[in-house]
Formats: sequence, C-alpha cells, structure tokens
Amino acid sequence: MRLFNTLTGQMDTLTPADGEALRMYACGPTVYDYGHIGNFRTFLQVDVLRRFLKLTGTKVRHVMNVTDVDDKIIRNAAAAGMTIGAYTAGFEQAFFEDLDALRIERPEIIARATEHIPQMVELVQRLAKAGAAYQTEDGSWYFRLAAFPDYGKLSKKDLSGMEDGARVDVDEYEKDSARDFALWKAAKPGETSWDTAIGRGRPGWHLECSAMAMEYLGESFDLHAGGEDLIFPHHENEIAQSESVTHKMFARHWMHVRFLLVDGRKMSKSEGNFYTLRDLLLKGYKASAIRLALISVPYRHQFNFTFDGLVEATNAVDRLRTFRKRLVEGSFAEGENPALQEAAKNAQEEYIAALANDLNTAEARAPIFELLRAANTAMDQGQLKAGDRDAILKVLTSFDGVFDVMEDRDAEVTRKALEWAEQTDRMGQVATELLVRQGLTDEAIDALVTERTEAKKQRNFARADQIRNELADKGVVIEDSKDGVRWKRK
Ligand code: AMP
Ligand code: ZN
Repeated sequence: MRLFNTLTGQMDTLTPADGEALRMYACGPTVYDYGHIGNFRTFLQVDVLRRFLKLTGTKVRHVMNVTDVDDKIIRNAAAAGMTIGAYTAGFEQAFFEDLDALRIERPEIIARATEHIPQMVELVQRLAKAGAAYQTEDGSWYFRLAAFPDYGKLSKKDLSGMEDGARVDVDEYEKDSARDFALWKAAKPGETSWDTAIGRGRPGWHLECSAMAMEYLGESFDLHAGGEDLIFPHHENEIAQSESVTHKMFARHWMHVRFLLVDGRKMSKSEGNFYTLRDLLLKGYKASAIRLALISVPYRHQFNFTFDGLVEATNAVDRLRTFRKRLVEGSFAEGENPALQEAAKNAQEEYIAALANDLNTAEARAPIFELLRAANTAMDQGQLKAGDRDAILKVLTSFDGVFDVMEDRDAEVTRKALEWAEQTDRMGQVATELLVRQGLTDEAIDALVTERTEAKKQRNFARADQIRNELADKGVVIEDSKDGVRWKRK
C-alpha cells in the first residue's frame, strides 16, 4: 500500500523491512482524563491501518505506549490528593473500555511508561556517552540539540538562529521553542520519582517513546504514527534521542492524523464544544455510528465533527445492517446474475484499491453503498440469485473486517455508559430520549412512585411491591420516611 510519509513529504510504499511483520509504534494516551473524540479519531485511523494491513496479508507488530507519568498527571494527581498510580488507573481502564466500545483492536504490545524506567535511564546514559546529553545543577538531564544536526528533519523546521544551551523543561511546548529539552527531570519535593543511576527523578515525556519503541521494535522500524500535534516537538525529539545513539534511521515511515474540529472550530472545554466518547454515548448516539463517522473522512483531511454528520453515520450503519439482514434472511432462486457478480467483484476491488491509496476511507465506502443500491433494486425485482447473495455477503464481510460496524453491540455499550453515569453522578447529562428508551425518566419514576403510594393507601400491597421491585431492577431505590417517599438512583 502507499501511505503519505511526513518524513519524506511524499507518498511511499509501506512494507515490512524484514519481510515478515510490519513493526509499528503509535503514541498512546496520556491517562489524565477521559479520551475525547479527537484522540479517538487518531486511534481509529491507526486501527483502520492495522486492520487493512492484516486483511491484505501483512502481519503487524504494533506497540502503543500508555503515558502514566507526565506534567499534567503529576499536577492533577496532586490536586486530587492521590498518588499518580491511583490517579491514572481509573483513566487507563476507562480508555480501554472506550477502545472496546469503538471496536478498536488492541495493539500487540501495550507499554506503560512507569514500567520502563530502566530502559529510559539506559538511554540517557548512552546519550551522555555520545555527548548528546548533559546534566544541570539541579540534577535534571537535557538533550543537547546542537549535537544532532538533523534536528528538524521531520517537522521541516528551520533552526537557524537557535540559541545554543537554551533550555525548556515542560513536556509540551510551542514551535518557537526549539531548545535543549528535558530528558529526565530531577525530583521536586512531593513529586513521584525514581531513584536511579542518573539520579532521583522522573522521565520527560519524549524519552519514554524512544526507549519503549526500541525495546519492542528494535533500533530501526517501519512506521511511527500519532496525531499531527505530535510532529513537533514530540516526534522530532524522539528521532533526536534515538538516532543520536544508534546512528540508524529510527522510523522509516511517519503517519500523522490531522486534527478533528467541532463545527469548524478547535475543540476546547472553554468553548463548550468538547466531547468525550462518553458524552456522545450519554447523548444517545450509538458507538457504531461514532466509529463510522470518525473513520469515514480520510486521515489526512481535516475532520469537521458535527451532530448532523453523526446522524448521517447512524443512518449509514442502519442501511448496512438492514441490507445484510435482507440478504441473510431472504430466500433466493439458485443461480447467478452476471451483472451482480460483476458489481460485487468491482466493489471488492475498488474498496481495497481506495484503502491501498493512502487509506482513503471515503472512497472505500462509496463502492460498497453502490453495491447495496444495485442489490436492493435487484432484490425488489426478484433478480438477485442465491449465488449473488453469497458473493455480496463475502464482500460485506471483507469490508467489515476494516470498518467493523455491522454487528450490533450498541445497546450493550450504551448500557455500560449508563451504568458509569449512575456510578459517577452523571445521570443529569443523559439525554431524555435515551432515558425514555431505557424507561428511566424522572417523570416516569415519579409517576410510578405516586402510583405505589396510592396502591398502599388502598392496601393493594401486591401492586405496591411489584412497583418497588420493578424500580429496583432499574437501579432505583425507594425510601419511605416520615416526610414522605423519596427515591434515588443507585
Ligand atoms: P494524548 O492523550 O493527548 O497524548 O493524545 C493521544 C492521541 O490523540 C495523540 O496521537 C494525539 O496526537 C491525538 N489527538 C489529540 N487531540 C486530537 C484531535 N483534536 N484530533 C485528532 N487527534 C488528536
Ligand atoms: Zn510518543
């Protein structure tokens, strides 16, 4: 397949260098909060890539890190009065639940930063030996940009005029601060730290990905991926840290997913247009529709998220499912219709060709929906034969190996999201429509509670108990007190 390569600035063929498995590293989540739809756009596009590679016969060895120590985590954990381990555990679990909800396949290897401190320390030692790292008075270690003339080759940054020895020690920074960056930060009082051969401290964010990528994929590997915000400084720094000690090309191919916007604007909490996956589920949107919406725009195009788009994706999923059901459940005369055989063959070839061309998911969808229209018309006219059904189902199954929206697990995902909302006091965010679907509106509960009080007054205890049990099944407990009857959600 051909995939755009940020490093070369052109479309390159993506193949495993060892002829066996494509070794790829994709930057994973920083587990300091729930994942938002921008994050999941990136993880979903990487999922599309790995599924497509496998579908076309390429094995993958895919590593994803979990950043469970960084500036933000330390700040948030301190504010919550928790250790960073306790703080990140819940968000890490939530992240994996969200991956499952979106049917994102697990990478072969998942690596937590805090479990690879020795590898990071060793890398700093190698960098120091190579003259590319130095320690400052407070005990922190920095990467010396001047030691790596190739710095800027990924982001195509012009570094002339850069001040030698100027330093930056925050994990994330803007484009105008190409400075010596922190590899290892000396322990500050009260912060989580590790006692190591290079001193007591904690790793900088960039170091972790170099150390873990090389641990699991070797010093040189096939592909590195992430969102476009990571090109600079994160990926540029990964290259500098790795190539300064190995003198080998770190990753041959770099894939960057363009950012997601909401209604044409940057998604941000202060703008009120910020959505986690869970926000959308509680609004009543289906996980399958969210998946389809987030993958249907090719990864190098800006994706503008809108609720209209989500409705469109919901309808598209319904059409696919209804169509497949019609094929599976219908009875058709033996034989084949040559026109449909041809249409199925073309759809298969066209969707594969579209994905092989820089993962063009939009162009991959089109021939499948064309096939759906042609087959529906043929079924209406009684011209679809058993042999056509088999051929078309084969195409659908193949396509769904990448898109994965046909099997209906949406109710289960929504149920789990509602359970989470109940446990975390978020029932107020749940869309009324969804509550009605689940039979859980406040009004409905009020009405049942009133009916139960009436039943008791009339000494109809059987009915009263029945209502209490029904509500208990739905997680609502009734409390009788002197002041009357109250209810609450468990
Ligand atoms: P983080 O958890 O912030 O480290 O991000 C995890 C992944 O999501 C990284 O690959 C980011 O580049 C990516 N990402 C963050 N925001 C967006 C966005 N708005 N659109 C697309 N990808 C994003
Ligand atoms: Zn990374």
